[in-house]
Amino acid sequence: METRLNRLRATMAEKNYDVMLVSQGENRRYMSGFTGSTGYLFIAREQALLLTDFRYTEQATLQAPEFEVRQVAGGLGSWLPDAVKQLGGKRVAFDENHVTYAMFQALTKAVADTGAELTPDSETVEMLRAVKEPSEIGAIHRAQDLTGDAYEHVYAGMHPGMTEQQVAWELEKYIHEHGGEGLAFETIVAAGPNAAKPHHHPTGTVIREGEPIVLDFGAKVDGYCADMTRTVCLGKQDDQFKKIYDLVLGAQLTAEALIKTGITGEEADGYARKVITDAGYGDNFGHSLGHGIGLYVHEYPRVAQRATNVLQDGMVFSNEPGVYITGWGGVRIEDLLTLEAGKVRNITKASKLQTA
Ligand code: ZN
Ligand code: ZN
Repeated sequence: METRLNRLRATMAEKNYDVMLVSQGENRRYMSGFTGSTGYLFIAREQALLLTDFRYTEQATLQAPEFEVRQVAGGLGSWLPDAVKQLGGKRVAFDENHVTYAMFQALTKAVADTGAELTPDSETVEMLRAVKEPSEIGAIHRAQDLTGDAYEHVYAGMHPGMTEQQVAWELEKYIHEHGGEGLAFETIVAAGPNAAKPHHHPTGTVIREGEPIVLDFGAKVDGYCADMTRTVCLGKQDDQFKKIYDLVLGAQLTAEALIKTGITGEEADGYARKVITDAGYGDNFGHSLGHGIGLYVHEYPRVAQRATNVLQDGMVFSNEPGVYITGWGGVRIEDLLTLEAGKVRNITKASKLQTA
């Protein structure tokens, strides 16, 4: 099997990098397997170093067998020059989105008398992360299953008079009590007019019959994120709710039926957007259809207007159209999809509300 290190080295060769520094948490974990909170990877064409402090050397040695683990102490200035010298190489790439100015200064000093040059890199590891291995899809699937189970459990017990915060807590409690290692992101529970805000933070607002209630949350399992949205309505659904709900569900199912390997993120977004726009609600769908997901809740590919990236087998991304109406509320329905042998597979099993 092609290892992640080999895939990275192939890209490094294309970009003419001799050494690459990886310091961002998810990227470091992805490239090395090391899950600790501090550490630096220096990846050269032949060697791979993992530098961390004494708290983590034992863990790093176990988790990152492809790396030579070295214990470092003190500020970057005290060990960085040696590491850079050991690896040699002319072009040292660093991640321009994650390296701090202080670190950049230390790097500049470290390469000063080696003759090497620093070159900013953007998102090379993030691009590798976009296409998942079967084990990664398995972890996302387990996280999404747990998320779905939490939803079914909490929805069955939801009743008017509970607050948004209470519902959010029930969802989170279920995840923690059933094997989740944490949450993929801050839970959204938005009732009535609050549901018009796609990223509403749960408040003491009491949920009532007949209004839309948006639940958007996800478990984290084995480092991988889930992400799911369900919109529910307790008691009798009025005509407005039915109309908007059926429109959003129709848009979501249309996108799921049409998305396939080889199309762009923009085309995928367009399938759902056309349904909503044709119904006259285009201006009420103000966000992207979806986003890639993995070690982090928002990653590549982009599934959005003007997203030129091509959707490939092994990618995992959300399908989450929404319609938001100020003063009334909103409806969003979100599943996670993956592409296999050219086709979509939905990895979300939780039930969806049907309009009565
Ligand atoms: Zn979501
Ligand atoms: Zn999402």
